[in-house]
Amino acid sequence: MADNDISQTNSLPDQHLPVSSRHFELLTLGDELLLGLTANTHLTWIGQQLGRHGVELARNVTATDDAAAIVAELRESWARSDVVITTGGLGPTCDDRTREAVAEVLGQKLVFDPEIERAIAERFVNFGRKMTPNNLKQAYRFEHGDVLPNENGTAPGLWVEQDGKVLVMLPGPPNELQPLFTEQVLPRLARLGLVLEGEAYVQMRTAGVGESALETKLQPIFDRAGDALSVAYCAHPWQVDVRLSSPDGRLSMPELQAVAAECAALLDEDLVCYGHDSLAKVDADLLRAQDRTLAVAESCTGGRLANVFSDVSGVSKFFRGAIVCYCNDAKMQILGVPESLLEQHGAVSDECAVALATSVAETLEADYGLAITGYAGSCGDVKKNPAGTIFVGLHSPQGVWSKKLNYTAARPMVNERAITVALDWLRRELLRAASRASVPPRRANLAG
Ligand code: ATP
Ligand code: MG
Repeated sequence: MADNDISQTNSLPDQHLPVSSRHFELLTLGDELLLGLTANTHLTWIGQQLGRHGVELARNVTATDDAAAIVAELRESWARSDVVITTGGLGPTCDDRTREAVAEVLGQKLVFDPEIERAIAERFVNFGRKMTPNNLKQAYRFEHGDVLPNENGTAPGLWVEQDGKVLVMLPGPPNELQPLFTEQVLPRLARLGLVLEGEAYVQMRTAGVGESALETKLQPIFDRAGDALSVAYCAHPWQVDVRLSSPDGRLSMPELQAVAAECAALLDEDLVCYGHDSLAKVDADLLRAQDRTLAVAESCTGGRLANVFSDVSGVSKFFRGAIVCYCNDAKMQILGVPESLLEQHGAVSDECAVALATSVAETLEADYGLAITGYAGSCGDVKKNPAGTIFVGLHSPQGVWSKKLNYTAARPMVNERAITVALDWLRRELLRAASRASVPPRRANLAG
């Protein structure tokens, strides 16, 4: 296969600037984070955004909603950093104390801003709700600072440039924080030269090759590129990401892209995409490009395979549906798996995986059928199929197959791996189908 021709998701960024060495800290605030009630996804999300723009987050501190704790942590972070980003505690209730704490550390006054009040009032009118007086707390901003309007919530973000540093305050809800960050914070930081405007590295997402085998395969290419190239590996279940960068800027982005293209030629189908697309997104792009449709049948994964597709935009164009058939009766009644097949081979078998994949494709009139059946947990038949035995079935216009996986781990990990392997198998089959130009699409695209 030609390099740079793996899928539609592999276009490379084209801009390059040296990587920033500024000190960034993230202060995530909220009792619920320390109580383990909410996962600190702001760390992973903001960390990834900054990394993609050339900055490695130097530290993340998570503190309670207690005002004294926020003041103490922020004072230390502010002293160490060029940029401090705080998240949470901008709401209207008594536990939202970030504004006041930041004002104390910066020695700034909070001033009432009628523009913010107007935006909050308008939001309440639009939602047909009555605004209560405590919402006015959100209409305060720093005397010397900017307001970052929030189209998805009542509390705007706040921006302060002081003492040659930047402080950014963002609201807690991810649906408010994320657009604020990408649409307002990143461009402002880029204008100040604190992050890169474009991408800082080339990432190759691979599947089906372990990281040690991957390094062994790619190292000769990296050796030829010399010590200006920095390579980092990040392993996930069944997938490994390889990041190529040049921290001191000696290699330009086109040079990094050339190294990546050499790797792509060697990796062939093992390269999923350049960048950060999920396997489900790559599968979706391939299905759409070939005008093909998909249906899934699953038992032990309980709907999680179907769920990965529901996060992909435009899913209705290719996804016909899913059937979760956990017990044998459901497999027989909904998908017509013969009782004799289940008696002879069992539900955790090649034969059952094949029957599920074929039947779900036929029942839901899809071109491809993907099925998972197995023992994710402890109920496996210890001798024949111990826990962690999974069969994946794939029905395609070219034929139907199954494969057996054995993976000993906790139930959610077994299921996650089964889903990843199934998605990767479908991707490889779609790539092969795309390269067989003689295969016409069987069915027109389905409208939602
Ligand atoms: P609100 O107006 O909703 O009170 P806020 O700015 O005061 O917003 P918080 O009260 O701290 O923010 O958090 C609101 C919600 O945002 C939390 O219930 C939680 O679901 C989510 N959240 C807060 N911090 C994080 C985080 N670090 N990672 C993921 N989600 C978070
Ligand atoms: Mg709050």
